[in-house]
Amino acid sequence: MTSPRLHSDRHARRVVIVGGVAGGASCAARLRRLDESAQIVIFDRGPYVSFANCGLPYYVGNVIADERSLLVASAETFRERFNVEVHTDTEVTGIDRQAQTITLHDLRTDQTRTEPYDVLVLSPGAAPIRPPLPGVDLPGVFAVRSIPDSRRIRAWIDERGARRAVVVGGGFIGLEMVENLQHRDLAVTLLEKLTQVMPPLDAEMAAPLGAHLAAHGVSLHLGDGLAGIEAAPSGALAVVAESGARLAADLVILSIGVRPETGLARDAGLPLGPRGGIVVDAEMRTTDPHIWALGDAVEVHDVLTGQETILPLAGPANRQGRIAAESIAGRPTRFRGVQATAVVGVLGMTVASTGASEKGLRRAGVTDFAKVYLHPGHHAGYYPGARPIHLKLLFSTNDGRILGAQAVGTEGVEKRIDVIATAIQFGGTVHDLAEAELCYAPQYGAAKDPVNLAGMIAANALAGDMPLADWAQLGSTEALIVDVREPQEYAAGHIPNAVNLPLSQLRQRFTELPGDREIWLTCGVGQRAYYAARFLAQHGYHPRNLSGGFTTYQALRAGGVLP
Ligand SMILES: Cc1cc2nc3c(=O)[nH]c(=O)nc-3n(C[C@H](O)[C@H](O)[C@H](O)COP(=O)(O)OP(=O)(O)OC[C@H]3O[C@@H](n4cnc5c(N)ncnc54)[C@H](O)[C@@H]3O)c2cc1C
Repeated sequence: MTSPRLHSDRHARRVVIVGGVAGGASCAARLRRLDESAQIVIFDRGPYVSFANCGLPYYVGNVIADERSLLVASAETFRERFNVEVHTDTEVTGIDRQAQTITLHDLRTDQTRTEPYDVLVLSPGAAPIRPPLPGVDLPGVFAVRSIPDSRRIRAWIDERGARRAVVVGGGFIGLEMVENLQHRDLAVTLLEKLTQVMPPLDAEMAAPLGAHLAAHGVSLHLGDGLAGIEAAPSGALAVVAESGARLAADLVILSIGVRPETGLARDAGLPLGPRGGIVVDAEMRTTDPHIWALGDAVEVHDVLTGQETILPLAGPANRQGRIAAESIAGRPTRFRGVQATAVVGVLGMTVASTGASEKGLRRAGVTDFAKVYLHPGHHAGYYPGARPIHLKLLFSTNDGRILGAQAVGTEGVEKRIDVIATAIQFGGTVHDLAEAELCYAPQYGAAKDPVNLAGMIAANALAGDMPLADWAQLGSTEALIVDVREPQEYAAGHIPNAVNLPLSQLRQRFTELPGDREIWLTCGVGQRAYYAARFLAQHGYHPRNLSGGFTTYQALRAGGVLP
């Protein structure tokens, strides 16, 4: 029997990579740049390596019309450019850690063989969840993971003349599929178990997106889970919801999440973490010194909640591929952890987030945080075409450290979240956001960019210049709620029980307000309420600001956070 050590004694070091897409391909290419002597081999059970999974929904939607555009690098590119050997249609079915060999199943020839490794890298990704429910394997029910999956969906639409689709699951992939199926002129129903779309977001931040989808003709069926799928003899499908509702479809997309592909690791005795991903250290090395793992299959450290998490996104997978390569090449390296920076665009609306959500913080047991809402234009209001960005910033009440941000709007959304994401990576505080020097010309931003404003509002709250009222207490507070908008604005809609005292009259009439009672101030978006709060505080009153004003109130109600 071959001694494990002999692989490296006799030959160039043999680095075998399982899975050659986002993480695996990055690892191979980076390792070659660091080590010309290693023998690098990629095995992938699919027909392609290094394809653009993120582009698949747009291929279904024919926005990307040519399938070849999805192929970022071919097996030939890997061989010619990087001297990396690629075997597609080859599934790795087992790992013998003692012998340092893997078992392979060649899907084209149906042959099985073993191959040695000195270093093994696992980047097998995550598989779409197919719940064990009746009908999920019926023809016409699809998940989207690979190019052949998208090809099948396209063919189904074309050949069957599909007119109606039900998308099950309103997360990133589900929403991208909604957009692309609508782009193919299908009538789309979205079934989502939660009462909101985009489950990672706080409900009030997802509410504008839900309204946007409905306004664009998407039939939303929220707060109802999938019970099963039935097929009529004609082939027409019916998605049956837990409530008993039946949603007619010619095509069903299952996008209810992904599960790390950990079978190989588990069978080889590599530990899995509480979230079901492969356990790795900061260099992406498993507990076996010869095996690294990365991408969707591993658990990573969430830098904001301090907990281990699964984050199936392409950016982390790519970075982890580089880090594993550096580690394998013997360079000092370290993955910093994740903060869940993500964006999705759907039917002209963009939703982006970074760091923890409010519900994520609560789940993690974090209590010493506060939040502010703002609704600034994406550029200066005097320049035509400014569009609102709805922004929520979460920060530590101890030291002002930024904990997370979510934004929704049609323009400039992801730019603001990327700035805040970068600040989080450097351990930034709300004061850093207030001070951030950002681009400004009228068509791009404002002299006080939305990012600056978010920091300033939060800093005002921390400094005690603008104490925050708790929206959740709105129904039970003893405070007097004062709406400082103009009477016609107030008449068009206001918070129940709010009295109207416009900011424009406050200096003359403030003595009408009780001095012995807390006053909660509101306006359209929070700005005039802040001015009123500063005035009243300097006159001995105890004001608090309902952050984000009536706009936030409406979002909280639409999101079901407030009754
Ligand atoms: C439709 C879709 C849209 C997405 N959009 C975005 C987006 O917009 N932004 C974003 O950040 N992320 C997006 N993602 C997620 C992103 O693609 C993944 O996070 C990323 O690809 C993970 O990289 P990975 O290397 O871990 O796995 P993958 O890129 O999935 O690669 C894993 C490969 O391993 C192969 N494999 C698995 N097991 C074996 C085995 N035993 N033997 C051989 N081969 C095996 C698989 O066939 C697969 O080719 C999207 C994903 C999908 C499916």
